[in-house]
Amino acid sequence: MIPAPFEYYRPKNTAEALKLLQKVKGARLLAGGHSLLPAMKLRLSSPGALVDIARIKELSGIKSVKGGLQIGAMTTHAAIGASDVVRKICPVLAETAGNIGDLQVRNRGTIGGSIAHADPAADYPTLMLLLGARFTVTGPKKKREIKADDFFVDLFTTALKRGEILTSIYVPAESAAVYLKHRHPASSFAVVGVAAAIAMKNGKCDRVAVAIGGATAVPVRAGAVEQALSGKEPTSANLDRAAAAVAQAIKSPLSDSYASGEFRTHLATVMARRALTQVAAKAR
Ligand code: FAD
Repeated sequence: MIPAPFEYYRPKNTAEALKLLQKVKGARLLAGGHSLLPAMKLRLSSPGALVDIARIKELSGIKSVKGGLQIGAMTTHAAIGASDVVRKICPVLAETAGNIGDLQVRNRGTIGGSIAHADPAADYPTLMLLLGARFTVTGPKKKREIKADDFFVDLFTTALKRGEILTSIYVPAESAAVYLKHRHPASSFAVVGVAAAIAMKNGKCDRVAVAIGGATAVPVRAGAVEQALSGKEPTSANLDRAAAAVAQAIKSPLSDSYASGEFRTHLATVMARRALTQVAAKAR
């Protein structure tokens, strides 16, 4: 449980952090440390140097912007969960942040660290996919924007390139969405997490979005569920039919000693039914 030796740098701003990433061999960003430090202690990861960006002021904070929220990557889960602006513009994000891990995790862990880490059992990636979030990434030469749909590439693998920093997250406003998770009893991570949003028009589901996390290497949109419910009334029979299509989105389910792939797929189906029921009631 002792990490391999490493150098430690604490840059004052993003520009300095970017230079360090270029200059220092084996340098890795440190945010809240709640995923990286355990991995280092287990020697699953042994970076030669840590560039600590957690206290860079310009990387933190929540702003209401046109159509949604702009959130600095180093904003903690606790700050997001307690934010009145988030509660007003995208309540499901505040609720999700407030249910991550425990108090210590929420006080140190950051939204940017969680998204960049791309743990399949993390909560934000599933929600970001549902909401159509966009990530601003700053590299040594330029900034670019990556859609949540294109960001999560594989298990713990994202579209971030070497030397880039995830600097902020744009989250569109959403008033009728829910995120449910079947939590792992030891960590609170999502064994399976389901996010759903519905917009109603004339009593029918006009826009349906469903994202499933924890069941596969990266979170996925459940297109067949969305199609099955679009244009229909959210009756019990229609919700049943739509939720039954969840399995089509789960091509290669994750399997471990806690939950088999079959169990994860079943959980996702049951939870999608619950999420759709809750969100349809909200949308009405
Ligand atoms: P770090 O651990 O510091 O970094 C993680 C990785 O991301 C590193 O590779 C780092 O180099 C990279 N990185 C960090 N910031 C950036 C950036 N801005 N740009 C590019 N790369 C970056 N998560 C959940 O979602 N739900 C849970 O219920 C949950 N429960 C937890 C329970 C425990 C006991 C613990 C220890 C963790 C739990 N977590 C959970 C994970 C937690 O949310 C972490 O905060 C999160 O996974 C990583 O964020 P961090 O800020 O700690 O990042």
